[in-house]
Amino acid sequence: MNAGSAISFPHRHLLGIEGLLPPQIEAILDLGDKYVEQSRRVDKKSNLLSGLTVINLFFENSTRTRTSFEAAAKRLDADVINMSVSTSSIKKGETLIDTAMTLNAMHPDVLVVRHSDSGAVQLLAEKMRGAVVNAGDGRHEHPTQALLDALTIRRRVGRLSNLTVAICGDIAHSRVARSNMQLLQIMGARVRVIAPPTLLPAAIDRLGVEVFTDMREGLRDVDIVMMLRLQLERMQGSFVPSVREYFRFFGLDREKLAYAKPDALIMHPGPMNRGVEIDSDLADDIDRSLIRDQVEMGVAIRMAVLDILTKSLRTEAGTTL
Ligand code: ASP
Repeated sequence: MNAGSAISFPHRHLLGIEGLLPPQIEAILDLGDKYVEQSRRVDKKSNLLSGLTVINLFFENSTRTRTSFEAAAKRLDADVINMSVSTSSIKKGETLIDTAMTLNAMHPDVLVVRHSDSGAVQLLAEKMRGAVVNAGDGRHEHPTQALLDALTIRRRVGRLSNLTVAICGDIAHSRVARSNMQLLQIMGARVRVIAPPTLLPAAIDRLGVEVFTDMREGLRDVDIVMMLRLQLERMQGSFVPSVREYFRFFGLDREKLAYAKPDALIMHPGPMNRGVEIDSDLADDIDRSLIRDQVEMGVAIRMAVLDILTKSLRTEAGTTL
């Protein structure tokens, strides 16, 4: 690993996993390893982003992702501004452009954006002078989540290639699933999705994954089980008969997990609905569950992304890397 040197990352923004190449993903993961070490020190801070401004612009509620980005930026000594904006009262297209113009005038170096509409972050990025990081847009992409999941797996298992990963639950509404399906396949893993037909996206056949509607069949011999939250806020109408029924057929419990490999590991992007998509005991089982590691890796990956996207800026300014 030679984190920090000779990294070629030709993108100005991180809007999605789509379009990234394996060495670019590896470069971020390698840097992530470095920042896990930094974050475990008593003195967690370095001054890499000293003098730079990071704005966290959240149009959709989020506690964990915003906190994680905030911790990452502060650990690198950036000035951080958190803005929460409600979308309820605004005409979105127009206001987004206004927002971009207002923010440009404040000279942020990095803008971290979460928005409930797929594509909104891309639109903002087209108008922004600084780097833009997609912190989740609608059901489209959540690239730092897929990167942190990859780092979590790579650190525990040692590789991503040739693993079989099952992504289970509400695939249709999940940007986490969409980003993970892409990243895992780019890195040579086999991906299965398991969901009731009502929670599968229409174009699933074109995503290169194996599709199962039966949990026990889909889990057979997998290495990693990624559970997803039922995204009730994105559902209009009834996609599942009842939460109890959902847990019975698609909730992860020990009986269903027994179909996976004996040492299969469990992941969940959070926030979890305990007893809806995952049995509470299983979520806390330190031998099987990587859920807490995912949170730790989240900060490290976001530090890595801030590092890599500001590299050219810092080089131009003559700051040491
Ligand atoms: N935190 C993830 C997201 O923002 C997953 C979830 O909300 O269920 O997409």
